[in-house]
Amino acid sequence: MRAFEYVRTSEVGDALAASERAGAAYLAGGTTQVDLMKDGVLAPDRLVDITRLPLRGVLGTGHSLHVGALTTMEELAADPLVTHRLPVVREALLLGASVQLRNMATIGGNLLQRTRCRYFRDPAVAACNKRAPGSGCAAVAGPARMHAILGVSERCIALHASDLAVALVALDAVVHLESARGTRTVPLTEFYLEAGTTPSSETVLAHGELITEVEIPLLPETMRSGYLKVRDRVSYEFALVSVAAALEIEDGVVSKARIGLGGVGSKPWRALAAEEVLRGAPATEASYREAADAAVTGAWTVPGTAFKVELAERALVRQLQTVSEMSR
Ligand SMILES: Cc1cc2nc3c(=O)[nH]c(=O)nc-3n(C[C@H](O)[C@H](O)[C@H](O)COP(=O)(O)OP(=O)(O)OC[C@H]3O[C@@H](n4cnc5c(N)ncnc54)[C@H](O)[C@@H]3O)c2cc1C
Ligand code: SF4
Repeated sequence: MRAFEYVRTSEVGDALAASERAGAAYLAGGTTQVDLMKDGVLAPDRLVDITRLPLRGVLGTGHSLHVGALTTMEELAADPLVTHRLPVVREALLLGASVQLRNMATIGGNLLQRTRCRYFRDPAVAACNKRAPGSGCAAVAGPARMHAILGVSERCIALHASDLAVALVALDAVVHLESARGTRTVPLTEFYLEAGTTPSSETVLAHGELITEVEIPLLPETMRSGYLKVRDRVSYEFALVSVAAALEIEDGVVSKARIGLGGVGSKPWRALAAEEVLRGAPATEASYREAADAAVTGAWTVPGTAFKVELAERALVRQLQTVSEMSR
């Protein structure tokens, strides 16, 4: 690990000022940031420790939850409103990482975790457009199993790995941002960028901008929701494919649908085409199959990721069936 300056403050304003300098980065739980620094993938010359900022806690307002960016994954999963009104969020959190990691890892850090692409995480691999723009992409031609099929380009097929983000894009969550230049709010569906021509840019976050809060609208009492994660082993593993689904079914017809897909997108994937198919359709397996077909339209695969098209379809059908069973 290269030498760096370490700054810790308990004032948001001081943290923002300290992070303005090019080469500065924030440190929250450190479970991604420190790993990548140890591996030589990231080399900030100043680390601004934000763990003492007053940005921790969950507040319910009746129609939404305001989650401080430094709330840990475990704390959010244990919140009573999350348990009762947002089971999809609770399940996405508890199916991620391990208890030890969830007790360190923060909500802001989780949303900004970097891809698990092994070529990105190995500086000995020269070709990685995300790490070294213009150098190429080792994954497109090499073994690529934990990679994306939606929102990818020939320049990068890296996966966004956060389970929580998949649930939050389906719920229309919003992030509150603050920098030395002011504050703004951005819907999570607009926060992440697809691989495109500049895969090194993953979000609309400006340098030095801090996530202060995540605002999650509560689901209507009439909607049922849940998270399905398909992975190689039962725990402590990232998703091959995941589905965040929320449905409202009235008289056997789907009246409201929210779907997020994980393990398949260069960003947490909101499956709007599938939602469109479902709205007003009978709550039957045939409708769910049609929605699943729509969800993977436009998928671009390499030999290693081709299996994900069918896996995503099957996972989506299964999760829609599971959630519709809850509605009975
Ligand atoms: C072995 C292992 C298994 C894992 N499994 C899963 C899994 O199954 N599912 C899953 O979703 N995740 C998984 N993770 C990822 C884990 O959830 C993230 O590492 C964690 O959530 C990151 O949070 P953190 O607070 O530690 O962030 P840090 O490592 O401190 O920061 C991550 C990034 O976010 C930036 N940052 C942090 N907070 C803010 C903020 N408030 N504003 C602006 N920038 C900020 C940092 O500068 C850094 O770039 C796993 C991690 C490990 C190591
Ligand atoms: S998939 Fe993206 S992150 Fe992985 S090697 Fe290619 S450019 Fe780098």
